[in-house]
Amino acid sequence: MANYNEIQVKCPSCGQQHRVRIYPSINVSETPELREKVCSGEVFTAECPHCGHRQILKYDMLYHDPEAKVLVCLTDSVFHSDGMEGYNCRLVSDVGSLMEKVKIFTAGLDDLVVELCKYVTIREMGKDVSLRFLRMDGADQSIIMAYPQNGQMEMLEIGFNVYEDCAGIVNRNPALRDAAGGLVTLDQNWIGRFF
Ligand SMILES: [Zn+2]
Repeated sequence: MANYNEIQVKCPSCGQQHRVRIYPSINVSETPELREKVCSGEVFTAECPHCGHRQILKYDMLYHDPEAKVLVCLTDSVFHSDGMEGYNCRLVSDVGSLMEKVKIFTAGLDDLVVELCKYVTIREMGKDVSLRFLRMDGADQSIIMAYPQNGQMEMLEIGFNVYEDCAGIVNRNPALRDAAGGLVTLDQNWIGRFF
C-alpha cells in the first residue's frame, strides 16, 4: 500500500519544477525503513534533479510506532488523539522537533525525562540556548545534545547519571506524568510550567 503522495515543487535555486514524495502518515511497523529516514530528515528533503539543490519541505505528518505506543503529530492544525490511551502522543510544529522526538523514542528514552535533562542543563550552562537531542553515545550511554551558537552547531555531552536523576524527579512527581497524558506539546515551555 502506498503511504506516500507525490507533489510538484519548485526548486528555489534554479526555478525548475520537479516531483517529490511526501509521507503524510508513517507507520513504522509497516514500513520500518522509514524510521531512519525520519531521523535523518530524508523524508523532508527534496533534492532537485536539475541542479542538485536540496530544500527542506514542511508538511503535516503523523508518525506512528504501534509497538512503542508512540504517536508524534507534526501539524499546526487541530488534532485529536481520542482512543490512544496508553500512548505517548506528542504534538510538534516543526520538522526538527519531529525528528528529535522520533530519535528520543527510538533510543528507548522517555521524552519527559529528556526535556527535564535539557531544562536542568540549560540552567547549569547559564545560557539561553535551545538544546536538541541527537543520540546516545558510547558504552556509558552518554546523551549527545546539540545547540546553535554563533552560526554553528555545538555538541554537548550529558552523563547518563543526569538522565537517571531526572527520571527520579519525574517518578517522585506523578503530576508531571499525568500532565503528559493525552496529546501534548512536550517541550521546554511545557516543562518550565512545573519548575
Ligand atoms: Zn534546481
